[in-house]
Amino acid sequence: MHPVSKAIRTQIDRTNEMEHSQPMFLTSSFCFDNVEEMRAAFADESDDNIYSRFSNPNVQEFVDRMCALEGTESGFATASGMSAIFASFMAFLKQGDHLLCCRSIFGSTHTVITKYLPKYGITHTYVDAADIASWEQHIQPNTKMIYLETPTNPALEVIDLEAVGALSKKHNLLLNVDNCFATPIGQRPIEFGADLIIHSGTKWLDGQGRVLGGIVLGKKALIHEVYLFCRSTGPSLSPFNAWILSRSLETLEVRMDRHSSSALYIAGKLENHPQINNVRYPFLPSHPQHAVAIKQMVNGGGLVCFELKGGIESGRKFLDALKMLTLTANLGDTRSIASHPASTTHAKLTDAERNAVGICAGLIRISVGLENRDDILNDILQALEKC
Ligand SMILES: *Cc1c(COP(=O)(O)O)cnc(C)c1O
Repeated sequence: MHPVSKAIRTQIDRTNEMEHSQPMFLTSSFCFDNVEEMRAAFADESDDNIYSRFSNPNVQEFVDRMCALEGTESGFATASGMSAIFASFMAFLKQGDHLLCCRSIFGSTHTVITKYLPKYGITHTYVDAADIASWEQHIQPNTKMIYLETPTNPALEVIDLEAVGALSKKHNLLLNVDNCFATPIGQRPIEFGADLIIHSGTKWLDGQGRVLGGIVLGKKALIHEVYLFCRSTGPSLSPFNAWILSRSLETLEVRMDRHSSSALYIAGKLENHPQINNVRYPFLPSHPQHAVAIKQMVNGGGLVCFELKGGIESGRKFLDALKMLTLTANLGDTRSIASHPASTTHAKLTDAERNAVGICAGLIRISVGLENRDDILNDILQALEKC
């Protein structure tokens, strides 16, 4: 079966009620008929559920569907994307280890790497997404993991997964890829040698701005380590959120097809606009890593970036002039969202710090929703006239 069919058709065993839609298992613990069964479950001799911090049928269904989509053996679902990322660090890094990381990453991931990992003696080196040739010289004897996002947030740089996969294999490093922006519909990092794949379920996977969730995916032996860490520390996904996320996966491919075709259309229409310096979209031929994008991605995803010539002030005016697009701290929704990092999420950084991660003063990021593509485009065009 195609991965999408397999994901849609993977489900919890029907109960005696013969329901078609899957029931919710909103229970914190599970019962045993006798002490021997309970002993076997605790001894890991059976797969019986014990407690929903360890496992739950709804959570397992979401995991199994994600495994089908990403082509991985196993996974562990968490309460948010950040807890998935943190668990992937804590399960595999120890005092004295070094992490090689692409410079432009999600803000909270940056905080974990620069503020919290050093408390445990874990160091890092940031490397340029656009210059993979330079990565090898930053590998140290104690380097354990390469961590990256592609496309990156928010500048949409594309990192050559095949090249990084070969580098991590050569040096025996764990390759950990945050695949949030592309989704498994747009790209499957496992095919390029990724060992761990991270998602924030909160974004395109749910796709409707309703619940938080996250997941770490990979080989059975690796995910068992993530499971052991999470089972004891407790960042597990709630069964309710898992039920929502699992339903959402049934429409992921049709949604991503529409998000990405509308994004390509809008990006093309904005290119050469007099108020815009450049438009960034992985599937536009003008994208600096377009060749890499078409090699490793099925579509360009649902995010478009552009740079307003007027800098910070234009960015503020642009956001205030929008009539339909929402100003909200999220992406990957049915409703289109606009953001201006320099005046909001990255306002505390200096110009130099922002430029280092690809955020110029006039950078606008659009998360293209499922509204009619011309309605989205026209709202952007009318707001451009006012800035
Ligand atoms: C949002 C996001 C995260 C964090 O996910 P949460 O579910 O908000 O914790 C991680 N990586 C990327 C690329 C994201 O966009």
